[in-house]
Amino acid sequence: MWRFHMPTEVFFGEGVVLGRGELLTKFGKKALIVTGRSSSKKNGSLDDVIGALEKFGIEYAVFDEVEENPSFNSVRKAVKEYRGIGFDFVVGIGGGSPLDFAKALAILLVEDVDVEDLYTENRRWRAVPVVAVPTTAGTGSEVTQLSVLTDDLGNKRGCQTVFPALAFLDPRYVYHLSEDLTLTTGVDALCHAVEGFLSKRATPPSDALALHAMKITFENLPKALRGVNEARRNMLIASNLAGMVISQTGTTIAHALGYPLTTEKSVRHGAATGMVLPFVIEVMKEENPEKVHKVNEIFGGNLLVFLESLGLYKIKVDVTEDEIARWAEKAMKAKHLAHTPGAFTAEKIAKIYKEALKT
Ligand code: NAP
Ligand code: FE
Repeated sequence: MWRFHMPTEVFFGEGVVLGRGELLTKFGKKALIVTGRSSSKKNGSLDDVIGALEKFGIEYAVFDEVEENPSFNSVRKAVKEYRGIGFDFVVGIGGGSPLDFAKALAILLVEDVDVEDLYTENRRWRAVPVVAVPTTAGTGSEVTQLSVLTDDLGNKRGCQTVFPALAFLDPRYVYHLSEDLTLTTGVDALCHAVEGFLSKRATPPSDALALHAMKITFENLPKALRGVNEARRNMLIASNLAGMVISQTGTTIAHALGYPLTTEKSVRHGAATGMVLPFVIEVMKEENPEKVHKVNEIFGGNLLVFLESLGLYKIKVDVTEDEIARWAEKAMKAKHLAHTPGAFTAEKIAKIYKEALKT
């Protein structure tokens, strides 16, 4: 038995925020905009959202302090400032960090609980609607119900929050991304498609989306890195489709292995996951050789060679044996293992880290 549920209404196109701004009126008269510190001011997305809100007489406030890999304490700060003021909806603008933050905040504005409770209490939360405006072609967070936040101990943890009601995807915003961000966020989308395809939770519709997202990525990510806007536009489509994939399947142990590289070694999320992925799928091959073969085939015969050709392994990470052993032990407790194919052990995971980081 399988189910496919992805309730977000998605609009894609240049100028879509102002062009379809009337859609915002159905969410109410008072909006809280949640964004990062600077990029949305430079790429035009914040002006577009404000323009649309003003055009339709919707009041708004702007919280522009979301950092990369947002922490519980940042969420608490926003809750303290904005809970009880009567916002009708939240508009998240930016990469996965502001979008995930916006989805958690949408609950915490109306539920009298702490952000930590979102992880420990398994119940349906009330929330105000979320509108998502992604400006990276990476996480697909605009079409998932997941929020990844950094807890009080410095661990990245994902929890179920809410699907955005509406997503506006304007490819012009991703034309502003640096080469580094195009690579790391594009590789995140690649990981979502590959991991979702190989997950034990994969379904026929999620596979259809994943296969298409992988093909788009193979054809477009190298050109997107060279600054070809058409290719960047296609990567925004790939990341959206790959987001729909993980909204059904979740991610796998590859994401869990990437987390300490981000929190302890400051490697960007997509790069951290992408570096370990080709070695992770070698273990997955034990259980699902046909699908792993298909992945390699789509990426020109070998996923590792494709990722090397993008320059992903130029990122240098200094690690010790002790760190690798600690991360491997931690990964063995990750909930991702339950739906990851292959017989993972702490020894195999330590070997994956060593191969990926060339230690
Ligand atoms: P991000 O952390 O949101 O942003 C990274 C950097 O990119 C920031 O410095 C940001 O600047 C800048 N930026 C964003 N858009 C830009 C643009 N159009 N032009 C130039 N710079 C831009 O990056 P991300 O990779 O999109 O998100 C990563 C986060 O999402 C991680 O926390 C990850 O765990 C999470 N994630 C969530 C899901 C999910 O399903 N919910 C899936 C995968 C990953 P500003 O700070 O100034 O905006
Ligand atoms: Fe990711």
